[in-house]
Amino acid sequence: MPSNDVAAVVGDLRELFRSGVTKPVAWRRAQLTGLRALLTEKQDVFLDALYADLRKNAVEAKRAEIMLVRNEIDHTLENLDSWLSPEPADLPRAVRPGDGRVVREPLGVALIIGPWNYPLQLVLAPLVGALAAGNCAVVKPSELSPSTSAAIAEHLPNYVEGVRVVEGAVPETTALLEQKFDTIFYTGNGTVGRIVMTAAAKHLTPVTLELGGKSPAIVEPGADLAVTAQRLAYGKFANAGQTCVAPDYVLAIGDTGTKLAQHLAETVQSMFGEDPATSDHYGRIISTRHHDRLAALLDNGTAVVGGQADRDEKYIAPTVLTGVSPDAPVMKDEIFGPILPIIEVPDLDAALAFVNERDKPLALYAFTESDETKRRIETETSSGGLVFGAAIIHLAVPDLPFGGVGESGMGRYHGRYSIDNFSHVRAVLDKPLG
Ligand code: NAD
Repeated sequence: MPSNDVAAVVGDLRELFRSGVTKPVAWRRAQLTGLRALLTEKQDVFLDALYADLRKNAVEAKRAEIMLVRNEIDHTLENLDSWLSPEPADLPRAVRPGDGRVVREPLGVALIIGPWNYPLQLVLAPLVGALAAGNCAVVKPSELSPSTSAAIAEHLPNYVEGVRVVEGAVPETTALLEQKFDTIFYTGNGTVGRIVMTAAAKHLTPVTLELGGKSPAIVEPGADLAVTAQRLAYGKFANAGQTCVAPDYVLAIGDTGTKLAQHLAETVQSMFGEDPATSDHYGRIISTRHHDRLAALLDNGTAVVGGQADRDEKYIAPTVLTGVSPDAPVMKDEIFGPILPIIEVPDLDAALAFVNERDKPLALYAFTESDETKRRIETETSSGGLVFGAAIIHLAVPDLPFGGVGESGMGRYHGRYSIDNFSHVRAVLDKPLG
C-alpha cells in the first residue's frame, strides 16, 4: 500500500473518531459483539488459515486463538460498565467543597502491529481493549503468517466499525509508523520494538511493547517431577515452541535434572507418539530461516528425546537437551522453538543468581512444594509474570495483567488492564462557583 494510502486510512479513522461515534458504551459493545460474531461465523476460515501458516491443529487453534479472545470479549462485556464508571476522588480540606473524579477517555486512533506465532489472538486480543476503550484502530498482521493475515483483512472489516486492516511487511509498517497515532501496541521482538519506539517518539505517541526473551523454569527437589514434566512439555511444545511465554530453559536444582529429563522424554512420547513428525497435534516452524536457526542448536547438548530436523517440512522434533553449558548458543537468545535445555544448578541461590544476572524475562516459572522458595522467588526476582506449578496458562486469566518488564517489554493488557492501556485516565475536579 503506497504511503499516501496509509495516510488516507489513518485520516479516515481520525475523522470517525472526532465525530464522537466511538465514545458511547453502546458503540463499544456493538463492536465487541461484532468481533464475537466474526470468531463464531468465520471460525473455520481462521482454523484453515492457521493450519496453512503453522500447521496449527484445530484443538490448539480453538483453545489459544479463538476461545481465548472470545473469553476476553465476554469478560469485557460483562464488566465494561463498572470498569468505565467514574471513580470518586477524596478532596483535601483546602480544595473543598467540590467533586473530584477519575474518568477514562479513549485516546483516539491506535496502531496494533501483530506477530506471526499466534497471528489471530495477538491481533484481536489487543483490539478488544482498543475498541472497548472507545478507540478506532489500524491493524497490521504479520506478513510471515500470510493466510491468517489475508483472512483478517478480508473478514474483520465486515464485522466491526472503526477498524482498518493494512497488510504487508517492512515497507508498509514503516509507512504506518510515519503517521501520527495516539497509541501503538506492538507484539514481537525487541529489535523491531526499538524501531517502533523510535518512530513513536517523533510524535510523542505512547507505546505498549509486548516482547519476549528467555523465560526460565526453576525445578526444585521435592516437586512432583511427573506432573512438572507434563506442565513444562505442554507449555514448551504447544505451537512447536513458538510461544512468547514458553519455558525457554529449565534450571534444575540438585539432582532433579536427570530424573526430570526422563519424565519429559516419556511425556513427549505420550503427547506426540513415537514419531512426532506424523502426529496431527504437532506444529511446524514458521519459516525456513527459523528452521535453520533452530536446527543449528540441536547439538548444543545431549538429546534425551528428539534432536531430528527436516528442512523441507520445516520440522524440528520436540527436543530435550541435557549437559548444556550456560555459554552454549542455545542459552544466548530466546529459543522460540521446541528445544528445551536443562541446566543443572546446585541450589536455589545459584538458580536465583542465574535468573538475576540476565534480562528480566517475560515469564518466570517455578515447580516447588516449598512456600519459602516461592516467597524467595517472588521477592528476589523480577519478571513480566510469575507462575508456580504451571506454564503459559496465566495469559488465559483475564483478571491478570499480561506484559513484560525491562527487555521483555512495557505496558500490560487483558481485561481491565486493556481499558487502562487504551485510555487516558483523566482527572476531573468540579468546584462550585458560589
Ligand atoms: P514478526 O517478525 O512477525 O514481527 C512483528 C511485526 O513487526 C510484524 O508485523 C512485522 O511486519 C513487523 N516488522 C518486522 N520488521 C520490521 C521493521 N524492520 N520495521 C517495522 N516493522 C517491522 O514477529 P517476531 O518478532 O519474529 O516475533 C517473535 C518475537 O515476538 C519473540 O521474541 C516473541 O517472544 C515475541 N512475542 C511476544 C509476545 C508477547 O505477548 N509478549 C507474543 C508473541 C511473540
